[in-house]
Amino acid sequence: MGKSYREELVGVFGYPVDENPTVVVAKTAFEDLGIPYRYLTVEVKPENLEAAMKALVAWNMKGIHLTIPHKVEVLKYLDHIADDAKIMGAVNTVYVKDGELYGENTDGKGFIKSLQNAGIEIKGKKVFMLGAGGAARAIAVELANAGAKQLVILNRSEERGSELKELLEKNTKMQVEFQKWSETAVIDEDTDILVNTTSIGLYPNVDEKPDIDFDSIRPEMTVCDVIPNHPHTQLLKEAEKRGAKTVDGLGMLINQAVESFRLWTGMTANAEKMKEALAKEYGIDVHY
Ligand code: NDP
Repeated sequence: MGKSYREELVGVFGYPVDENPTVVVAKTAFEDLGIPYRYLTVEVKPENLEAAMKALVAWNMKGIHLTIPHKVEVLKYLDHIADDAKIMGAVNTVYVKDGELYGENTDGKGFIKSLQNAGIEIKGKKVFMLGAGGAARAIAVELANAGAKQLVILNRSEERGSELKELLEKNTKMQVEFQKWSETAVIDEDTDILVNTTSIGLYPNVDEKPDIDFDSIRPEMTVCDVIPNHPHTQLLKEAEKRGAKTVDGLGMLINQAVESFRLWTGMTANAEKMKEALAKEYGIDVHY
């Protein structure tokens, strides 16, 4: 047999997607595993999602990541959806098997791993969450699985917020409260973990801040952001100024990617090497 020049294709569909750095960690992971995989960063507009999902089969791709704004919409184009992803109503990873599309969600698992790696306890804790979109759903379900006691959801659109509250009450034992986000929000004093799951601060809008009273952030709190920006988001900078411990979205990105790569390749990627690649790319110390 001659040499094969064919590569196994995976990647990410998003809009906007230019600044998504997953390709950096994917390249390192696949090289380290010694497998001929290529990770494509593809701009897919919402109106083209259906065609893009069909193209996965046409191009004989192994799978794809979905990012903003596709994680909920993609469900209607899948043949199979994992149980926890069904509860979340959101999928961030699709793999292709025998020409059929399987949906999973590794976002929440990646987030929990980041907290665990930072030594943050979740069991019995109160979490205050900004946002109720796809990432929020994944994180909320995994927080419940990890034993969080109470969750406050703060969201601009009432419909999305109360829908998530109902979903969690139906499927988990966590106490859930919804607050409509219509003015500068005060973080409940007894909050243990504050997490931003909105797209506020995502590149190119790096100066954007969530409309919260930053002085309600206390030094005992852990403040997390899902935005994988470097340098840190304005929210994390404000939290650091007030002495709170922070966990950024880069670690979550690595940890969810390890889970997705396992679904596509059947192999476990080296998170440490992926972390080093990302740190080198940004010239920073990445905690994952
Ligand atoms: P969705 O579009 O599903 O949800 C967006 C959420 O943000 C909604 O709750 C929306 O509120 C809220 N929101 C957006 N802009 C504002 C604003 N100006 N003020 C108040 N609320 C706002 O997006 P996803 O959940 O898929 O993604 C959210 C972010 O998470 C993205 O930036 C993505 O990069 C990041 N992410 C990072 C990961 C990582 O590994 N680090 C993994 C997954 C996601 P409303 O309902 O009112 O519209």
